[in-house]
Amino acid sequence: MNPQTQFCPNLQCCARGKVGQSKITIHSLQERRYKCGICGKTFAATTGTPCYRLRHSLDTVALVITLLAHGCPLQAIVAAFGLDERTVKNWQERAGQQCQAVHEALVQVPRDLEQVQADEIRVKAQGQILWLAMAIMVRTRLWLGGVISPQRDKRLIAGLAQQIRACGLCRPLLICVDGLAAYVSALRNAFRSPLPTGRRGRPVLISWPDLYIGQVVKRYQCRRVVDVVRRLVQGTWAQAQALLARSHGGSLLNLAYIERLNATFRARLASLARRTRALVRQASTLERAMYLVGCVYNFCTDHESLRLRGVLGGKRRWLPRTPAMAAGITDHRWTVQELLSYRLPLPPWIPPKRRGRPPNALSLARAACT
Ligand SMILES: [Zn+2]
Repeated sequence: MNPQTQFCPNLQCCARGKVGQSKITIHSLQERRYKCGICGKTFAATTGTPCYRLRHSLDTVALVITLLAHGCPLQAIVAAFGLDERTVKNWQERAGQQCQAVHEALVQVPRDLEQVQADEIRVKAQGQILWLAMAIMVRTRLWLGGVISPQRDKRLIAGLAQQIRACGLCRPLLICVDGLAAYVSALRNAFRSPLPTGRRGRPVLISWPDLYIGQVVKRYQCRRVVDVVRRLVQGTWAQAQALLARSHGGSLLNLAYIERLNATFRARLASLARRTRALVRQASTLERAMYLVGCVYNFCTDHESLRLRGVLGGKRRWLPRTPAMAAGITDHRWTVQELLSYRLPLPPWIPPKRRGRPPNALSLARAACT
């Protein structure tokens, strides 16, 4: 237990969420509790994490979550660990919520994306079809998020465009998509910024000047690709080629990176496999599972194509990197324990509003006498 890295989770405390400002001490080693020196409240080491109030140790939970995030069937875990099926489902649900929060806090931060690829997966669910749209930043292979919808329509694509927008800085940006018409208008709508005019009312939204939209349309015959049409819907070829060269060294518009990521998700999520009996029942379950797989992919998995040649211990070696390391979010590969025990930052403390007239000198003196 290290009180130096802890912060007070009490929402009424003025030092809440601030590391090193609330004089945290160890309250009980046996019960793994800390105490805040400002508000005097004690709190568990697992407060604000998926392991809060669980009977099992973090190691067991992390082991189960690692297996789930790599596509191990739930029944195999139940049989191997002797756990109840509902317990494992509950842990998966909690881990998914934690991963979504970590993703929103650390990945959905504006950065220079250079090139993004987006695509949709058709998911066979129980009694319905769901569509899962996802996006990847090509240079760092960072998974930027995904949206689920029962239809492959404007709403799905607009949701994905908003997620890409949340991760992007207003810099030259190329977005490669398939031939779905909804992409062009959704991307044009999402990539706009308000122009403050000083007048009342909603400010005018102006389009990002350096947004390039590329489409890769494949034509199939007997389930085989017979022709690929690559076109630039917005922007100039010279700028788009410069962005392509910067992000992956190529010169052709393609969707290879998002298709490879789709394959990873299909391998790690049983309900995404093409012919499966592990059908998902609700979209919310699929969403939690998607965030779990996506976060483990971003933070805990070394990507072979991201490794760098360097010197370690006096010898030249390949140094592995995760997508989060390549994007500069972290400097090391996280363990699943680290991902599960990551405590999310709390919103800053705002002093309570004073009601009534502000005290004058006379009333302060009276209060001091009584
Ligand atoms: Zn406190």
